[in-house]
Amino acid sequence: MANKCLWCKQTISQELRVSFIMSFKPYVAVLMCEKCRQLFSPIDQATACPGCGRRQKQPRLCEDCQIWQTRHEPQLSNHALFPYATVQEYMSRYKFQGDYELRKLFQKQFQSFILASTSGALIVPIPISEKTFAVRKFNQVEGWLEGMSYQRMLDAESRDGLPQSKKDKRERMQLKQPFSVRNAWEGRLKNRSICLIDDVYTTGTTLHLAADLLYSYGAKNVSSITFAR
Ligand SMILES: [Zn+2]
Ligand SMILES: [Zn+2]
Repeated sequence: MANKCLWCKQTISQELRVSFIMSFKPYVAVLMCEKCRQLFSPIDQATACPGCGRRQKQPRLCEDCQIWQTRHEPQLSNHALFPYATVQEYMSRYKFQGDYELRKLFQKQFQSFILASTSGALIVPIPISEKTFAVRKFNQVEGWLEGMSYQRMLDAESRDGLPQSKKDKRERMQLKQPFSVRNAWEGRLKNRSICLIDDVYTTGTTLHLAADLLYSYGAKNVSSITFAR
């Protein structure tokens, strides 16, 4: 039994033990070799910043989150799976070069992470604008959520045609509300708990804007989970 690592393209040899064959469990192909798996070390949730989810040695509110705290009520609580530096090349191949196959590499891990950090909240991926979708052909967040239950609740306007990562920090802070709630959800948000899912927490602006909007429709609690911080 041999298949190729989706990341380094090397052959992975999987020993199929007799005990496994006798267990009649469905065979799940391993998508990443052990060497690559070790490159992607997740953030330790026990010591991450309770505000934005960044990797830290102590679980206290980081400086960026202390600033958010003074100008935003209520505070958003974000959990992140990986440090951005760890998945930078992955994000560039998946999201920017558009290698959609790479969504599979972290589907299982990201979905388990989401399910472990939310209880009963509606899972809502951050949308991309029609303009971005026309170029990329897929929503990178929904790519990871394939097979799990989630709600398309929001729409996004185009942000002046510039991908967010190309704007400087100050420009990103000044962005106006880019989201709207879909008609079908307008009257159904009162007292609901919502967990927003996004790819990267950078300044936190995107997620705070989405949270503001959902609170204005009566949501009881809005939290968020990102693939990277
Ligand atoms: Zn590999
Ligand atoms: Zn923080």
